[in-house]
Amino acid sequence: MTLTEKQVADKIREAQKITFLTGAGVSTPSGIPDYRSLQGVYQGIEAPEYLLSHDCMTAEPEKFYNFIKYLYHPEAQPNVIHEKIVELERRADKTVWTVSQNIDGLHAKAGSRKLVSFHGSLYECRCRRCGHPVSWREYLRQDRHEGCGGQLRPQIVLYGEGFTQEVLNQSIAAVAQAELIVVAGTTFQVHPFCDLIRYRSPGAAILAVNQTPVTMPTDFEMVQCSGEEVFALI
Ligand SMILES: [Zn+2]
Repeated sequence: MTLTEKQVADKIREAQKITFLTGAGVSTPSGIPDYRSLQGVYQGIEAPEYLLSHDCMTAEPEKFYNFIKYLYHPEAQPNVIHEKIVELERRADKTVWTVSQNIDGLHAKAGSRKLVSFHGSLYECRCRRCGHPVSWREYLRQDRHEGCGGQLRPQIVLYGEGFTQEVLNQSIAAVAQAELIVVAGTTFQVHPFCDLIRYRSPGAAILAVNQTPVTMPTDFEMVQCSGEEVFALI
């Protein structure tokens, strides 16, 4: 069923227990391109799925590093979608969680605290050899740890890597608590993120806000637009 922007905004405003499941579309208004659009621009014919894989990081660290540097947009600022989610989260009469596929750190930058970064964050880095955390600024200067010479990496889930049980448990708990689940800025096709919907509570309503059609193995209501138009009305 299709709803108007205002109907969706009203439903979000009225719900008390809300969980947002967000994807790349909530970051495009902040100027963050979907990494898939980088294909061909910097790395010829190689697929981003390889360039963002554990195999590439270990077998061709220079290629991995050169690609991943393009994913950093430290100057990007949260937009109205991130900001409204934080406003809702801070209201005493609501319980609001966000589970995001995005690795750009913008939900955290906006101030979200009840946040699960499902695929990790580019802005949390560590040394693969000694485990020491390093700043993303240090990582952008070089991918070798000054202390031990080990390879540095961002704490994101690469292709070929698994999810921690902690992240899965937090995400499932966030989905299960909601009376309203809002899928925003994603076509909701990437596993296992899209499988989280199976853990919704039996009476939970589902809304999707996305510029292109969304498919789910369950009933949901949808508004097809950029999320900014909806969240500006909240
Ligand atoms: Zn080290």
